[in-house]
Amino acid sequence: MTTEPAYTAGPTSEPAEDPAYAIALTQFNSTADRLGLDDGVRMLLSVPKRELTVNFPVTMDNGSVQVFTGYRIQHNVVRGPAKGGIRYHPQVSLGEVRALAMWMTWKCALVDIPYGGAKGGVKCDPKQLSRSELERLTRRYTSEISIIISPESDIPAPDVNTNAQVMAWIMDTYSMNVGHSTPGVVTGKPLELGGSHGREEATGRGAAIIAGEAMNHMERQIEGTTVAIQGFGNVGVHAARTLHNMGASIIAVSDSSGGLYNPQGLDPDELITLRSEGAPLVEFPKYDRISNQELLELPCDILVPSALENQITVSNADRVRAKMIVEGANGPTTPEADAILYNNGVTVVPDILANAGGVVVSYFEWVQDIQFHFWDLSEVREKMQKVLTTAFSEIVRRQEAERLPMRDVALMLGVERVAKAFKLRGVYP
Ligand code: NAD
Repeated sequence: MTTEPAYTAGPTSEPAEDPAYAIALTQFNSTADRLGLDDGVRMLLSVPKRELTVNFPVTMDNGSVQVFTGYRIQHNVVRGPAKGGIRYHPQVSLGEVRALAMWMTWKCALVDIPYGGAKGGVKCDPKQLSRSELERLTRRYTSEISIIISPESDIPAPDVNTNAQVMAWIMDTYSMNVGHSTPGVVTGKPLELGGSHGREEATGRGAAIIAGEAMNHMERQIEGTTVAIQGFGNVGVHAARTLHNMGASIIAVSDSSGGLYNPQGLDPDELITLRSEGAPLVEFPKYDRISNQELLELPCDILVPSALENQITVSNADRVRAKMIVEGANGPTTPEADAILYNNGVTVVPDILANAGGVVVSYFEWVQDIQFHFWDLSEVREKMQKVLTTAFSEIVRRQEAERLPMRDVALMLGVERVAKAFKLRGVYP
């Protein structure tokens, strides 16, 4: 019989100052309790494996030099290279990036792709930066984190305020430094540079597919359902378009400027055109204006938060009138809000499932890049649908045994897979 090694106090993490990190740790600790994880595994999985903070200079257009702070955090890599997006936002912090990296670990394991979790971010306000400042910031940040990223070790992707162009600059900077083109170092690239068909739409489309699965499971149709979407960026736009094409009525959308509402339904394509012209949603005169807070509390069938963390909290959960929440964003619901929603009969389809379409197609992009062999859109869509519906079925099966909310079961499946992989690998040396 082998005996478990005795673990004493392990690596320490800074206090969970960031609300998102507090949420991620609370979720992890309850999952570890449910799974009966032993102390060693629990200790290992509750802290990031590797954290890099970089303070770096950028020359601004007026000739001055400004110093920015960025992070790249690899939460866990036992199942494969680290994977996760890069965020540009004034509120980026070490704690927030830690939380997002941890969620990536559970998400990749839940949908069973061979990746660990990572995330990166730069604390900046991209709205205040010119295109050339954004490019210089991206290139310098990439150089700074290039000591830990590569197609074999850690592969970034887009997140809030980053897009295919930013990924192209990352790919080019990394490639210049290593001396050859390396498309597999980053995903979410333009098609011309080894991007994948279907990557841009993947997260929002995946959320719509999962919403459809969840409705079917409740013996309801998606046709004719009413949907409110908070956040009209990459995720929100493609969720709106796909749900609209599936026959749902999008009654409200919002961005950071505020929201628009029409109980008879909005035309997502019209709003997408407006957005592509750079105008804030609230400048669109055709529909009634509402605040982001009002949007979250609208009576509707499905609410799709697709902006930032911490939107549905103890202070508004009781007023949510949606029947189902499909989390396009990462961490939009706090654990306290989860409990209130559960008691009120609101189904919460958790982020690590609902927005996993993005990382699934990022995985496909990486597979295509390292093989230099590309697939068409229908192949990508079909493969993504299969991965997501398999994960959904696994959750439903486990839920039948556990009788727990979908988030708890999804986390159990993800954490369990990572813990098993860790046990199999053992402790080096
Ligand atoms: P994005 O930058 O393309 O869009 C974000 C949108 O949210 C914008 O419309 C912005 O105006 C809006 N917004 C910001 N603050 C808001 C607020 N307080 N209220 C309402 N709207 C607000 O970002 P994205 O890539 O769509 O990411 C959105 C969320 O989805 C994030 O939580 C991100 O981590 C998550 N996510 C993204 C991907 C991806 O592939 N891009 C994958 C998985 C998860």
